[in-house]
Amino acid sequence: MRLKDKVALVTGGSRGIGRGIAEIFAEEGAHVAVNYTANAKAAEEVADWVRGTGRRAMTVKADVANRGEVEAMVEKVWSELGPIDILVNNAGIETIVPFLDLTDEQWTRLTDVNLRGNWLCSQVYCRRAVAAQRKGSIVNIGSIQAAKVLPGRTHYAPTKLGLEALTRNMSAEVTPLGIRVNCVHPGLIETDMTDWVMKSPDILPLVLAQISLGRAGQPREVGSVVAFFASDEASYLTGQSVHVDGGWEGK
Ligand code: NAP
Repeated sequence: MRLKDKVALVTGGSRGIGRGIAEIFAEEGAHVAVNYTANAKAAEEVADWVRGTGRRAMTVKADVANRGEVEAMVEKVWSELGPIDILVNNAGIETIVPFLDLTDEQWTRLTDVNLRGNWLCSQVYCRRAVAAQRKGSIVNIGSIQAAKVLPGRTHYAPTKLGLEALTRNMSAEVTPLGIRVNCVHPGLIETDMTDWVMKSPDILPLVLAQISLGRAGQPREVGSVVAFFASDEASYLTGQSVHVDGGWEGK
């Protein structure tokens, strides 16, 4: 019960790593707002799962790259579930496009969601929390690609490395106001995003051979580290980034 009666907003909580975070948070005692952008049914399933643990839950649709929708999301969660104690910036997208083929639109949409969206949700949450004189915690979900080159990711990788700098710089400004900010970089985690890797008989063995634990991770294995960062057990940790990647070599 490391998060007993805390109110958490998990962006992209409807599937994959976000769902794993929501599940662990509920088991640790938190009430959870599950954000999604398209998949309402999946978000409702996660909210039902949370309610099954005895905690309160709600779903909230918003594109994290849209300021109006993010402001409405934070207000809705604040009034329906209670003042937000924890924001997890997990929503993200990945496309794989060779550098020479990448279009302006592809660059802009991906960086908008993965980097600006993270900054936007954080700013809207922090303004609300500071105005209400509430303390809190933010955990950003980066990627192993902050430290590793994979083909076709000249747009994706910079957003994830950028989150490290965003984490450090936000931490410097809002930790003195009572809000700690940290970042978790997952390695290969089994989700819809990585389904094609998990099903590739050519690529999967090459990837697993580089991972000390010799397997992909599960969303809940990321969730438990995020819960630690969000909890009072991490009360002296801020501005930090940690890799949860099973020991992926060559970083
Ligand atoms: P996923 O299975 O594709 O799920 C993505 C989630 O983000 C869904 O809940 C989706 O909502 C939501 N989302 C996407 N765009 C959004 C937007 N504009 N606004 C609000 N929500 C949005 O992805 P995942 O594998 O769980 O990845 C989660 C995070 O971890 C991402 O930031 C990703 O970059 C990062 N990551 C993943 C891995 C991995 O191996 N899986 C490794 C490193 C980092 P809908 O359900 O409504 O579509």
